[in-house]
Amino acid sequence: MRQIQMVDTHTQYQKIKTEVDQAVIGVLESSAFINGKPVQTFASNLSAYLGVKHTIPCGNGTDALQIAMMALGLQPGDEVITPSFTYIATTEVIALLRLTPVFVEVDPETFCIDPAAIEKAITPRTRAIVPVHLYGQAAPMEEIMAIAAKNNLYVIEDNAQALGADYTFSDGVKKKTGTIGHIGCTSFYPSKNLGAYGDGGAIFTNDDELARQLKMIANHGQSRRYYHDVVGCNSRLDTIQAVVLDIKLSHLDEYASARRAAADFYDQAFRGNDKIRVPARAPWSHHVFHQYTLVLEGIDRDALSQYLAEKGIPSMIYYPVPGHRQKMFEQSGIPAKEMPVTDWLTSRVISLPIHTELDQEQLEYITRTILGFVNNNK
Ligand SMILES: *Cc1c(COP(=O)(O)O)cnc(C)c1O
Repeated sequence: MRQIQMVDTHTQYQKIKTEVDQAVIGVLESSAFINGKPVQTFASNLSAYLGVKHTIPCGNGTDALQIAMMALGLQPGDEVITPSFTYIATTEVIALLRLTPVFVEVDPETFCIDPAAIEKAITPRTRAIVPVHLYGQAAPMEEIMAIAAKNNLYVIEDNAQALGADYTFSDGVKKKTGTIGHIGCTSFYPSKNLGAYGDGGAIFTNDDELARQLKMIANHGQSRRYYHDVVGCNSRLDTIQAVVLDIKLSHLDEYASARRAAADFYDQAFRGNDKIRVPARAPWSHHVFHQYTLVLEGIDRDALSQYLAEKGIPSMIYYPVPGHRQKMFEQSGIPAKEMPVTDWLTSRVISLPIHTELDQEQLEYITRTILGFVNNNK
């Protein structure tokens, strides 16, 4: 059996190696390392795939979120509602810009931000909501957009984990995650569903004026060369990453299917076991399984992950410390508070290997080993 990894970018690369190597050599030969033509080609192809008007490439997903918040003109002290149960990048940039993150609970079944909790957290200082499509599943965007419209708030989607997922509205209309809010953000970190061979990110919007602002901010606030109209930053997708991403974009749906097939296998093996809760599939979302995350009930998580490690099966806790308990926020004057749902989930989730290259033998071995542990520890 091949060695099991959380993410197997190497095997995936081997399958597109000829094409990728040729494209990368092409960039080396052209030596247009920054702002080469392929960057715009990739951005246009990604816009077409997502059905969004503007794609602004940038340096990484964290930058994408920061630039989005800057483009909306949020001011120090403005409140931004966001889940605590997410990767730190989502909430870190809020504090970095001297905005106030207001942490709210997620739904314990879907792991996505809870609309009722959003409504309760709104104050006169609230300016924006940042839902996260966690683990590859869409947050309940229709409800979130309705709350935002009613309260005159911006919505920035953190789509770093769900690029390619569809959201289905109650009238049957489907849209890609990241294209529903005022701005969407994504990451091309190598392990993401559309992963580069280095860092990368992108920002999406259907609004022409916002697109102009986003582009300007990502490029030193320049309206034209050496004329800097607003305070910006320097955040670029380099040409080598763009050619890699353009090739991988043509495989993105196939990659999502492979992840879903692995998730289906896990579901089948674990469903019905009263100690293991398989990830819920929200009716509004097509799930692209950036992570496959179980909730353990009455099982010693550390003992399980140690046992799996001994058997050559990696596992991860995403994430061991939720935002509302991170020291960095306390330093910014946001004291920790009680968040029972988030704390409960944080102590019980475990993510299994999921990627495009898991084979039947590996999946059988992983599920057999986990069930063996669970059934012996009743
Ligand atoms: C990966 C990730 C980011 C940040 O992306 P980087 O490219 O690593 O900066 C932001 N939010 C979420 C939810 C992520 O998973």
